[in-house]
Amino acid sequence: MESMKILVTNDDGIHSPGIKALAEALRKVGDVAVVAPDRERSAVGHALTLHHPLRAVQIGHDAFSVDGTPTDCVNLGIHNLISFKPDLVVSGINRGGNLADDVTYSGTVSAAMEASLMGIPAFAVSLVTEGIGEHYHAAAGFAAQLAREVFTRGLPADTFLNVNVPDLPGEALRPPLITSQGKRRYEGLIVDKVDPRGRKYYWIGSGEQTFLDLEGTDYHAVSRGHISITPLHPDLTNYSSLRLLHGWELT
Ligand code: MN
Repeated sequence: MESMKILVTNDDGIHSPGIKALAEALRKVGDVAVVAPDRERSAVGHALTLHHPLRAVQIGHDAFSVDGTPTDCVNLGIHNLISFKPDLVVSGINRGGNLADDVTYSGTVSAAMEASLMGIPAFAVSLVTEGIGEHYHAAAGFAAQLAREVFTRGLPADTFLNVNVPDLPGEALRPPLITSQGKRRYEGLIVDKVDPRGRKYYWIGSGEQTFLDLEGTDYHAVSRGHISITPLHPDLTNYSSLRLLHGWELT
């Protein structure tokens, strides 16, 4: 079989432990190039840099750090920087889960979406942890297994995968479940305080992460120790609402 060519990116930055573990594991199953942000760019979503130039620094053979977003990295990587056209783009391993509604903020998931928009099979991998994460190598091992499967079978058109792996040693991980995107519970997420110079400031995201424990969802799977694989597509159309809106009396 021809060797699989893989582009690796992330949103935690090129020096994060997750991308190192991922690239190392994928090198055992294919040729790997790394193009990733030069610093953490978590929660930038699908942002594309249009209003200032981007710089890339080569830091190894087929490895580049870019002062842009994960979506910038996929674009620059594929069109300019790396020496091959990838068969697969893998984004991660993110420090922290990308579950439920959080996928809409995720730079990690958006990088996979960008590849999918370009017609290249892709998946995002995240380690579900509240801390710095311990078991990146176990998650990376699963990513390598999944990469081979995607390379062999392909993915349906407009489909990319969002993979979440519990932060457990390999032998403690339970088998992967195919899931749907879950639902977050929104509560007091913003800190509202006064800085040392007397000005108010706000800080988003201090609340505890809570998700609805719905059967069949990504959260339900990972909270029980299973790896979760959710097929996503970039089309956000809510097809079940089309008929309803057609019934509105708009002229
Ligand atoms: Mn991140």
